[in-house]
Amino acid sequence: MAPKRDYYEVLGVDRKASEDDIKKSYRSLARKFHPDHNPGDKQAEEKFKELGEAYETLKDPQKRAGYDRFGHAATGRGGPAGWPGGAGGPGQGDFSWSGDAGGFSGFEDIFSMFFGGGLGRQQARRGPQRGADLRYDLEIGLEEAAKGLERELDVPRIVDCPICGGSGSKPGTRPEKCPDCGGSGQVRSVRRTPLGQFVTSGPCSRCEGRGEIIKEPCPDCDGLGKVRRNHHIVLSVPPGVDTGTRLRIGEAGQPGLLGGPPGDLYVYVHVRPHKVFERDGADLHLERRVGFAQATLGAELSIPTLGGETILKVPAGTQPGTRLRLKGKGMPHLRRGGSGDLIVHMAVDVPTRLSAREKDLLAAYATERGEAVTMPEGFLKRVKDILSGAG
Ligand SMILES: [Zn+2]
Ligand SMILES: [Zn+2]
Repeated sequence: MAPKRDYYEVLGVDRKASEDDIKKSYRSLARKFHPDHNPGDKQAEEKFKELGEAYETLKDPQKRAGYDRFGHAATGRGGPAGWPGGAGGPGQGDFSWSGDAGGFSGFEDIFSMFFGGGLGRQQARRGPQRGADLRYDLEIGLEEAAKGLERELDVPRIVDCPICGGSGSKPGTRPEKCPDCGGSGQVRSVRRTPLGQFVTSGPCSRCEGRGEIIKEPCPDCDGLGKVRRNHHIVLSVPPGVDTGTRLRIGEAGQPGLLGGPPGDLYVYVHVRPHKVFERDGADLHLERRVGFAQATLGAELSIPTLGGETILKVPAGTQPGTRLRLKGKGMPHLRRGGSGDLIVHMAVDVPTRLSAREKDLLAAYATERGEAVTMPEGFLKRVKDILSGAG
């Protein structure tokens, strides 16, 4: 996923722009990139969409305040690797929200929980809520995966603002009863249809179901009641992890609401491919090329392993494609002791560039074996010297 562009940049305005400036800039850019004016232009279409998304957030003062403070994470659009601030790009160092305890569905739910009325009466009635889970993507090398490692992390959390205690109101002031819904958080509307009169009720749009509105916002959290704080933890990665390993660090996720327990932190491990070894579970594979003579006569070869060089005995008569196994020189098994093997795939080189003397020696060998070969020119005249070693 391409990194998300800053919404202000998308709209071509600065961070202090007024609502009016934002609207004007949006209108003029939207005209420019409108699909009707740019038929078939994919780039313009993307720009148009991006504009709409940016405007959607910045035109709404509450959403804008959330965006200013928490970046794309506040919009639920940062993508799985976008937290914090939508810096984007997969890999190390990115935290992201998990919408629920089970699947990592993005942070749409979190957005509504923090900024969209989730703290209102309806949820208050539901009682304590478990905090959201967080995801952290950790990229490591194969050597680190073999040894295990410790990594210090600052986990960004959104916590109640310590100044206003999470109320969002300036200390010493109180939220006021919402005049639109009389404090109930719900509004009734009556619809007349030919079939009769329908009364529906839904959350009040003015207070977003809270029943209260903040008259004087807390200056420290801009009335959001929430601030960002880093939570320092030391992450311990055991030896033997692989790409796809998921480590759970209990209660290191977002704090709970209304006395609920915190969520968990899930660390998703990605092990970079190695330039020498290919990994298959706990086994490592390696190709080793040997000369024709080495394969035929046998040899002792120095072979790289994760723990340094080791000696591999190549038996006489080793065929191309033979797999030789170095027991216990693979990756450690995750959490159950022992290690896999290092499997060496033997490849036999057929030499292509030989000196004149090498050609003569090989021709002598072929003669001895009775193999019909293309003889080097003048070989028969030299054969005596060659075999007596005087060449
Ligand atoms: Zn505050
Ligand atoms: Zn209201």
